[in-house]
Amino acid sequence: SKKLKISPTFETMKLKNDLLRGIYSYGFEAPSAIQSRAITQIISGKDVIAQAQSGTGKTATFTIGILQVIELKRRDLQALVLSPTRELASQISQVVSNLGDYMNVKAMAITGGKTLKDDIKKIQGTGCHVVSGTPGRVLDMIKRQILTTRNVQMLVLDEADELLSETLGFKQQIYDIFTKLPPACQVVVVSATMSKDILEVTKKFMSDPVKILVKKDEISLEGIKQYVVNVDKEDWKFDTLCDLYDSLTITQCVIFCNTKKKVDWLSHKMSQSNFAVVSMHGDMKQEDRDRIMNDFRAGHSRVLISTDVWARGIDVQQISLVINYDIPDILENYIHRIGRSGRFGRKGCAINFATRDDTSKLKEIEKFYSIKIKPMPANLADV
Ligand code: ADP
Ligand code: MG
Repeated sequence: SKKLKISPTFETMKLKNDLLRGIYSYGFEAPSAIQSRAITQIISGKDVIAQAQSGTGKTATFTIGILQVIELKRRDLQALVLSPTRELASQISQVVSNLGDYMNVKAMAITGGKTLKDDIKKIQGTGCHVVSGTPGRVLDMIKRQILTTRNVQMLVLDEADELLSETLGFKQQIYDIFTKLPPACQVVVVSATMSKDILEVTKKFMSDPVKILVKKDEISLEGIKQYVVNVDKEDWKFDTLCDLYDSLTITQCVIFCNTKKKVDWLSHKMSQSNFAVVSMHGDMKQEDRDRIMNDFRAGHSRVLISTDVWARGIDVQQISLVINYDIPDILENYIHRIGRSGRFGRKGCAINFATRDDTSKLKEIEKFYSIKIKPMPANLADV
């Protein structure tokens, strides 16, 4: 296969001036490995599959691609980004607005959770260029002809393996969305991990895609230290967490549990013991989720307890520690969870709480990722 062109700087990508200004004023100096390979391919109009590790700047990769190709003078929907959770869809829409700050780009998040009426009011007559949304609500809005797809020239699937996995039930909705797009619509698929479901989409909806795989970036998950704390009994996890609490609050921390019920239970129990925590899961009201998310992003809260609804894509640079209060049941989610720390080459740390029953699950994780998860040193401050 032909060798891919690598752009060492943002200048060499021949971007619009206003876009370049937006990139620099957002604080980016040089492109990451995936950015220096994928952005120009996306701009060239080809279908692209971009795969790179968590925290390496995939959002800006497709966002810069979108901002370069859309025509801002035309006030119609030209790019559509789909992702699996509402928080992620909102985050992406924010990145589009920020990088496009000098371009007068109009981006919007369409995420469900709020009433359809609210979303309709939000979008109608705004001349929105880019929509970032979850598949269900986006499809609904397309069917109701509130979103006009006639001029959509690029579709992006972020966290594509999750979006297309059989278990989540987005797959059919996404297939339906594909049928509503112009046949010439460019398709960009982005993910940290690949799957056979992605390959199926590749065959069905993409034409001769460019595959860009950045295996090991200079900034990678290797920057995340991983430890295990072995506990004899489930009950002991709670005391372990309380003992660690001071370390958790030095920056920010996410604690993952495997069920919504466990999240509720743990946050209640922590609060009862006077430890400040917040929590979030998919059964909570969207306005509560939004409030908790905003407070956490602003640093007003430091310890967040959540389910795998938080495992994918969420970018809060201050998170330096992830705790698996429960070892994930889904092997793939391990890397996504711990990838909430160590964003863009920052230091990160993951601590796994494991009972004897978890031994085999942990072994499986070590084998799957070819890693060794060592016991946590006595003093976490030393790591
Ligand atoms: P991914 O989707 O690959 O997991 P994100 O797109 O969420 O990663 O980016 C992770 C973090 O890295 C974000 O905080 C983002 O602002 C930052 N980032 C991305 N690209 C650059 C860059 N070129 N220079 C500096 N920071 C960057
Ligand atoms: Mg991402």
